[in-house]
Amino acid sequence: MITSLRDAYEQLRQHQEHLEEMVAKRTEELFIAKNDAEIANQAKSTFLTTMSHELRTPLNSILGYAQIVQRDPYTTRQQAAGLRTIEASGKHLLALINDVLDLSKIEASAVELYPTKFHFPAFLRDVGEIVQVRAESKGIEFAVSFSDDLPEYVHTDERRLRQILLNLLGNAVKFTERGKVGLKVETQYLQASACHLQFEVTDTGIGISPDEIGKIFDPFIQVGHQQLHAAGTGLGLAISHNLVGLLGGDLRVESSPGEGSRFWFEVTLAGVEYEPEDEKPTGQRTLLLNGRHPKILIVDDHPENRAVFRDLLVPLGFSILEAESGSIGLTQINENHPAAVITDLVMPGMDGFDFIRAIKRESALNNIPIIATSASIYADDHKQSLQAGADAFLPKPVDANNLLELLGELLEIPWRSIADVELEIKTATSNALELPAQEVIADLLNLATIGDIETLREKLINLQNENDRVKSFVKQIQELAQGFQQEKIIQVLTLYQKK
Ligand code: ADP
Repeated sequence: MITSLRDAYEQLRQHQEHLEEMVAKRTEELFIAKNDAEIANQAKSTFLTTMSHELRTPLNSILGYAQIVQRDPYTTRQQAAGLRTIEASGKHLLALINDVLDLSKIEASAVELYPTKFHFPAFLRDVGEIVQVRAESKGIEFAVSFSDDLPEYVHTDERRLRQILLNLLGNAVKFTERGKVGLKVETQYLQASACHLQFEVTDTGIGISPDEIGKIFDPFIQVGHQQLHAAGTGLGLAISHNLVGLLGGDLRVESSPGEGSRFWFEVTLAGVEYEPEDEKPTGQRTLLLNGRHPKILIVDDHPENRAVFRDLLVPLGFSILEAESGSIGLTQINENHPAAVITDLVMPGMDGFDFIRAIKRESALNNIPIIATSASIYADDHKQSLQAGADAFLPKPVDANNLLELLGELLEIPWRSIADVELEIKTATSNALELPAQEVIADLLNLATIGDIETLREKLINLQNENDRVKSFVKQIQELAQGFQQEKIIQVLTLYQKK
């Protein structure tokens, strides 16, 4: 009896030891698994960040040049329409990239809102144009209905609001084969400092079944109709639902299978102001440099990003300095004293943050305005670049108008409408000037347009030999030809042609 009790204790002890061993082993396994998961998660984040940066860099060129060429007054209407489509599609692609990245941020509860004040009708028109293109290509109608008391300016996170609407409208178009998709925006009530708006997206598409509608806002959920899944990620609604929540609203849905769906939400937007005195001249605008050529230093390790800035700013009269890293940028600043700096943040060698700090540390340099720009997904970049001392932040892909607006503000350059500027050139190129025959001007214009500056120069010499009275005209065009200022020659000749 005693022996067997002792045996039993011994057995118990052995079991306990074994158990402890097993617990220790299991704990270690779990620890390793947790560690692996953390490493995998970290790897996922790093991968997403890198991928975002890599994808945005070429998009910056695509969107940048789509905007630059659209500003060219000599693009035909057909070309301009094509460019608008390139721009809209590029922006769509950008939105898709943002989607994938957003979910990882939402999973980590790291989404922050960046409210700004923006022109509400222009915002709605832009959203509408993108949807219109997609609806047209599917042969369905797109109807918008805006109440006529919508606020002129609203204060909210523009990018997030656009993202929500494009997701809902994108889905509506995607899941509708015939009939129409609608966007309705109504003011529920309007106060001096706030306005309550309802947004509603409707479609006459396939609808969502009652048993599936409950999980529609979960991530990675795609219901019914397998053939349509390939076109999406199942993330859009999860993100939109979350974002509407962040804006203080609640995204709701009702749907009848076979008849269509309706998604809607209400939000209160703060800080709505009517600022008629702030109104900008309408139509294409430009910065008026008045013969000045402010030097702008562009610091970016990607040559194609520098090229976008250069090709946007040079035609306006800016002169451009370039650097591929912060340290080269500093040398440029010391040697060439630019009027302003535009710098990328993520760069090998001295990055943008250190570069900005280095400028701000030098008392001789610290009043040079700095615009930081980044293709990175981290919202922190915005805050951190301002903390480092940047005067403003511009996300990449860069919006041409925003950039010009910023430069205008920082360098105190006035904005003018392009029509006004043209008129001024016209008056400046005085009537006293004797012009050659119209067909000669047409011929020169043709040479300038095809870029044959050599022949143009020869013709100018011949022209002066034939008729001494057109000397001033010849001299003016010759000066422009010397600087290969093709655009200017075209501009001036076009004006003379109209005379
Ligand atoms: P995605 O469209 O990228 O698959 P979403 O999260 O935006 O992801 O949508 C999730 C799913 O909800 C879609 O796959 C679709 O099954 C359903 N859905 C969303 N909007 C509609 C709609 N307007 N009509 C019918 N089904 C819809």
